[in-house]
Amino acid sequence: MINKIPCLDLNGQHQQIKQEIFAAFEKVYDATAFSGGPFVAEFENAFAPYIGAKHAIGVSNGTIALHLAMLALGIGPGDEVIIPANTFIATAWGVSHAGATPVFVDCDANNWEINPAKIEAAITPKTKAIIGVHLYGQPFDINAVKAIADKHNLYLVEDAAQAQGARYHDQTVGAFGEMACYSFYPGKNLGACGEAGGITTNNDKYSEHLRSLRNHGCTVRYYHDEIGYNYRMGGLEGASLTIKLKYLEGWNNRRRAIAKRYQNEIVNPKIKMQSKDSWSDGIYHLFVVTTEDKEAFVKHLGDNNVIAAFHYPVPCHLQKAYAHLGYKVGDFPNSEYLASHCVSLPMYAELTDEQVDHVISTINKY
Ligand SMILES: *Cc1c(COP(=O)(O)O)cnc(C)c1O
Repeated sequence: MINKIPCLDLNGQHQQIKQEIFAAFEKVYDATAFSGGPFVAEFENAFAPYIGAKHAIGVSNGTIALHLAMLALGIGPGDEVIIPANTFIATAWGVSHAGATPVFVDCDANNWEINPAKIEAAITPKTKAIIGVHLYGQPFDINAVKAIADKHNLYLVEDAAQAQGARYHDQTVGAFGEMACYSFYPGKNLGACGEAGGITTNNDKYSEHLRSLRNHGCTVRYYHDEIGYNYRMGGLEGASLTIKLKYLEGWNNRRRAIAKRYQNEIVNPKIKMQSKDSWSDGIYHLFVVTTEDKEAFVKHLGDNNVIAAFHYPVPCHLQKAYAHLGYKVGDFPNSEYLASHCVSLPMYAELTDEQVDHVISTINKY
């Protein structure tokens, strides 16, 4: 019997690069460069060209990246921002922390990304921006969403927290809108040894403003031009990210290969997968499937030592935190279906071929 296959295992990756990471930590330590500083700048200078954006700004986590993006766009109380109902809740937090109101729209029934056809009905005179989410590492239909944003004079922001290195029409996501926000939480495809996040933009003004906002609202030390935040990235986090960035394409390609095997070899009519559009070259942050009887399926997986997870069991509009917005069950049927039927399969670069074989044969026997 095969050993338990966890849904996510970060240890394999971290053992492989431990010596390299520890050597970098020693450099940060000897330079006492713990907060912002040269090791964060080094990462920013490597990450911006990787994405194909002019600027990268490192911050303390992905939620803060979204918050700062809203602030830099001048979004605040009284404003509305359109986001998909099926995303990790932090997309909405960015909007709420800025004092604005998230307005949810449903996802597409097949690709599970924000449905461009649902956006226009959600636009009001208060709408300022759309945050599209590259959910599970698959790009949303950026051109379709951007056309709507342009038509209505709205900002487009990409939430690329799950999609570092994903491509849309052969171009890396993260430079299509005004800004893109990233999480480098340890479990993301590019994850720091610690908490971290970032923003990319092609706009010089936004870049300068974001750098000031993350650092107490100052460009000259002890002179504060506006109310700022302490949202800097740490030096240890920055140093770990510079190292991991070198491996990211390889890790992403291994995920793509595993995903391809799941897509081709899982042949069970009870299991439905996220559809893959021709313009989408995702990085499979998560591999989510749906099935009618989720409990029975997860029990079958568990009985065979395959550990599943759920991303995400409650859509944003039905979270208690947003009860005051007045949404109800039935508002976004595709997001609600996904929430109550989604099962995440094991997905990480270090899965062995034998483990992948076992996941596939277990599912085909269900
Ligand atoms: C992880 C994540 C975030 C938040 O990032 P943190 O670093 O955990 O704050 C935002 N949006 C999405 C889609 C995410 O998956």
